[in-house]
Amino acid sequence: MPSIAIVPMGAVEDDVLAAIELGIGETFGFEIRRLPPKGVPEFAFDEERRQYSSEMILRWLLKEVRGDTVKLLGVSPVDMFIPMLSFVFGQAQLHGKVATLALARLRQEFYGLEPNPGVFLHRAVTEAIHELGHTLGLTHCPERSCPMSLATNLQQLDRKTSGLCTSCSILVRETVRSLHGSGN
Ligand SMILES: [Zn+2]
Ligand SMILES: [Zn+2]
Repeated sequence: MPSIAIVPMGAVEDDVLAAIELGIGETFGFEIRRLPPKGVPEFAFDEERRQYSSEMILRWLLKEVRGDTVKLLGVSPVDMFIPMLSFVFGQAQLHGKVATLALARLRQEFYGLEPNPGVFLHRAVTEAIHELGHTLGLTHCPERSCPMSLATNLQQLDRKTSGLCTSCSILVRETVRSLHGSGN
């Protein structure tokens, strides 16, 4: 059965993975499988920036896609970057097979604030939906409350709800249906 797989890359709390699985399962209508955890993606560590390259992580994830996995999401506690930006919350291949989520900057503690598990979980779920939405062909949405809107800071991320807006839902429905139909 076509499914979305999640692979923890480094220590990620079980309730975080469970919330992400529930959120993406409900949003995209796929069965979700959790793969055995991998270590922190040290191969993607950039000595100068002291961050992890999301592009290298995506390339690594591509080699891990197996069988009837339609999309693979790598979830890591680390801080990621792409060369042109100081950081990313995550990255995905548009219409591709892989996406990754960088949890470090979603935590209040990163900014010296008190931990807030509810806020953290909401950010993780909406960002996971955002990145997987890209793999399912969705581009950035002008609706600020939609998970597919562009968020380059937490203020923008916290304005999002975890439900896709009507137009994104309609757009993604066909793609999801064709993936179920073709079985690959
Ligand atoms: Zn995006
Ligand atoms: Zn939308």
